[in-house]
Amino acid sequence: MNTLSIGENIDLQPFNTLALPARARYFAAIDTTDHLTEALNWAQTKKLPLLVIGGGSNIILRGTWPGLVLQIALQGKKMQRGNEHASVTVAAGENWHALVQWSLHEQLFGLENLTLIPGTAGAAPIQNIGAYGVELSQFLHAVRGYSLDEKSIIELSAEDCRLGYRDSIFKHALRDRFVITEVVLALRTQFAPVVSYPALREKLQGGAVTAQRIEQAVRAIRQSKLPNPAQLPNAGSFFKNPVVTAAHYAELAARHIGLPQFQAPNGIKVPAAWLLDRAGWKGQRRGHVGVHAEQALVLINYGGGDADELLELAQAIQADVQHRFGVTLELEPNVYGN
Ligand code: FAD
Ligand code: NAP
Repeated sequence: MNTLSIGENIDLQPFNTLALPARARYFAAIDTTDHLTEALNWAQTKKLPLLVIGGGSNIILRGTWPGLVLQIALQGKKMQRGNEHASVTVAAGENWHALVQWSLHEQLFGLENLTLIPGTAGAAPIQNIGAYGVELSQFLHAVRGYSLDEKSIIELSAEDCRLGYRDSIFKHALRDRFVITEVVLALRTQFAPVVSYPALREKLQGGAVTAQRIEQAVRAIRQSKLPNPAQLPNAGSFFKNPVVTAAHYAELAARHIGLPQFQAPNGIKVPAAWLLDRAGWKGQRRGHVGVHAEQALVLINYGGGDADELLELAQAIQADVQHRFGVTLELEPNVYGN
């Protein structure tokens, strides 16, 4: 059995898709649960703050992390097929996109709209990943992981995870208190298409709708408008879509003709990209960072940018949107560092 290796003063730039310069005082890649427990005990003894990462596609890293960074690289999956559903247990370090491809190959359905989302399976519950009308919450059965409070591996039901719109308990009460080691999904054995998004419907015109066609269509749309982090470092959507009251929406819509609206459980969801576009932010550049020319929700590090520069741009956008529309934009990625 290999031993746990903990590196010192490690460069984190290759571990975040925004390519922000950052370092870890200590760093370990975790590929067994024994190593995870050992690393957590080690950090606790030394009273070091802990940062858990997967693919680094939804984090903003600032400066030097003063404690231990654990990159979750646990691999493996198990499947048990039932009549209507198959139970699929996936180790947290598995690549999400590869999991979607595998599920379709196994004739298991549900994840096709979630293709090409970067990152790991273990990070998917953190913000309840979603795209094109589908959310992880529709397929999550349970999450297993190490609870820093209970000092052992425990299971949380999907309900315990309190999944919401790009949200979960892991962004609140359990933020940085729970290391996910496995997710358990209940995937459908029968295909049930979700084609509510106009761009997807349009792409699927003509011919029968299959899960493979949805996957290909979503992949093609995403590739046509989203920058590839390997070429233009980014973290996907930088802001969540705001949800406003019906009265606020009516007031905004009277002043801003064409403002789209989508019913959300707690109000009316307004696309943040539309607000940014209307406010003239699309394609704007400030120093080394900027707003993507095709998709205003995506902030880019053009090279040489750091977290401070990026967060300054984000704050300027937030202040402008607040001033123009009276709408508060919330950051989607988690920020780490001093
Ligand atoms: P990281 O960025 O490494 O971590 C994200 C958060 O999860 C951090 O707070 C981290 O501490 C925590 N974390 C990670 N792994 C674990 C673990 N095992 N246990 C406990 N905590 C953990 N998101 C969507 O929802 N929908 C999209 O369509 C979408 N499209 C994207 C497109 C692009 C081009 C990019 C760059 C990002 C996109 N994202 C999207 C955001 C991102 O891909 C997802 O949030 C993804 O789930 C992050 O996975 P990760 O492994 O990279 O997580
Ligand atoms: P889009 O299809 O151009 O839609 C624009 C906005 O309208 C999106 O914010 C979407 O909300 C909303 N929308 C459109 N049709 C809807 C419907 N029928 N019901 C409810 N809401 C609807 O968006 P896009 O920017 O190209 O992204 C496509 C999908 O990929 C979206 O679901 C988006 O969330 C997801 N995505 C996420 C990230 C990320 O980092 N989080 C990055 C890229 C893409 P929602 O955003 O709530 O779906």
